[in-house]
Amino acid sequence: MPASKESALAKKLIVETRAYYCLECGKCTARCPISRVDSTFSPGLNVARALRGFDWEIKRDGGIWACMVCEICSSACPSNVDYPRFILGLRAEALRSGREKTHLSELEQLFLEGETDKDSGIYRQIKAVKTAIKGQDGGVVTSLLVEGMKIGFFDSAIVVYRQNGFQAEAVIAENASDIAMAKGSKYQLVSVAEKLVEAVKEKGKKRIAVVGLPCQVLGIREIQKAMPEVEIFVIGLFCLENFVYRLLRQRVGELLKVDMDTAEKVNMSKGNFIVTNEGKQVSCKVSELQEAVRTGCSFCTDFTSRLADISVGSVGSPDGYSTVITRSRKGEELFRLLTDLKETSADRDEIDRLASWKERKGFEKLKQEFSSLLG
Ligand SMILES: Cc1cc2nc3c(=O)[nH]c(=O)nc-3n(C[C@H](O)[C@H](O)[C@H](O)COP(=O)(O)OP(=O)(O)OC[C@H]3O[C@@H](n4cnc5c(N)ncnc54)[C@H](O)[C@@H]3O)c2cc1C
Ligand code: SF4
Ligand code: SF4
Ligand code: SF4
Repeated sequence: MPASKESALAKKLIVETRAYYCLECGKCTARCPISRVDSTFSPGLNVARALRGFDWEIKRDGGIWACMVCEICSSACPSNVDYPRFILGLRAEALRSGREKTHLSELEQLFLEGETDKDSGIYRQIKAVKTAIKGQDGGVVTSLLVEGMKIGFFDSAIVVYRQNGFQAEAVIAENASDIAMAKGSKYQLVSVAEKLVEAVKEKGKKRIAVVGLPCQVLGIREIQKAMPEVEIFVIGLFCLENFVYRLLRQRVGELLKVDMDTAEKVNMSKGNFIVTNEGKQVSCKVSELQEAVRTGCSFCTDFTSRLADISVGSVGSPDGYSTVITRSRKGEELFRLLTDLKETSADRDEIDRLASWKERKGFEKLKQEFSSLLG
């Protein structure tokens, strides 16, 4: 893109994301989990750069693809600068100008080892398994964490608890019963990367397992790059979309006449959103919940947590089983600790179809959303 066009786009992005109002207070950078361990990654600095003439440097340093679009920075900003949208605009321009997106493959090469599938990424084994633990699906995540901690692979795990009804928060689990309390999926974005940094910086943890969604796994790998002295096991979940809890609860209340705060279980299967309340199941189509989906999710391109040591999801497996993709030697060692498993083959076509659909949809949405800015 010629320099004049680049700066025209930058100006439009600055207006649209309110970057003009930046006070250079640094609150965004102080809260960003990646910036807390990597001083070269700074939302505040990038906004300041853009305001001072925008040297386009940000595009070359991987910063635009490393950001988790988690909105921690924008929620801390006293001027309501929408930094995640600023980054999405830069991503749209990078795609439009055909610049190769190498960030993901560089991280894959750094952390993973196996064969490559163009849709679901690097893999060593792909299986459908069920453990003795009753989890969201096959209880694989909980079993991996319990067994890994038992043998001393890690001494703590970042997991997500249900708090105050169906609201959720990340915690540092230090034993098997802490881990077991995190069973089940909570359909909202929780700050697991922030909790990981807290475990290292404030609790001095050096061997940690962390469970995250694909967007979080990306940020966790950035954090890991900046702290090579810390041993981190990354378990990634599959994810097609996620919700703003307040909006989800409201919409589910309208459609299904249940209060999610008192529900026993929530799950998504084959395009349905299913709530179990007082032993009874009620459901609606996930598509009917669109207004509660997080904005950032519509631009997301990773379904299977391509950067995790082990990825786990339900797609590709029969009911009650989890699909497991091991992607590194470390992931495989952890998976080998699971005994007493029921195993069957996973439907790889189904996984690949959804992974490829999500990637196409995310990139298309990015281009569409910013088409007027890109001209
Ligand atoms: C928001 C969300 C969307 C998902 N979408 C899909 C999908 O579209 N297709 C699919 O196949 N699978 C999806 N999954 C994964 C699936 O729901 C199960 O988590 C997965 O199959 C593992 O099941 P399990 O029985 O092994 O997990 P369990 O043994 O029950 O353990 C669940 C683990 O997930 C962690 N966890 C729960 N909620 C969150 C959260 N919000 N953020 C980070 N960690 C969390 C807990 O800490 C716990 O350790 C999604 C999960 C979430 C949280
Ligand atoms: S969106 Fe999240 S990862 Fe990106 S700069 Fe803000 S806090 Fe950091
Ligand atoms: S928090 Fe907001 S105002 Fe403060 S430096 Fe970051 S973008 Fe600027
Ligand atoms: S759809 Fe993408 S951005 Fe949204 S929660 Fe899932 S992995 Fe994160």
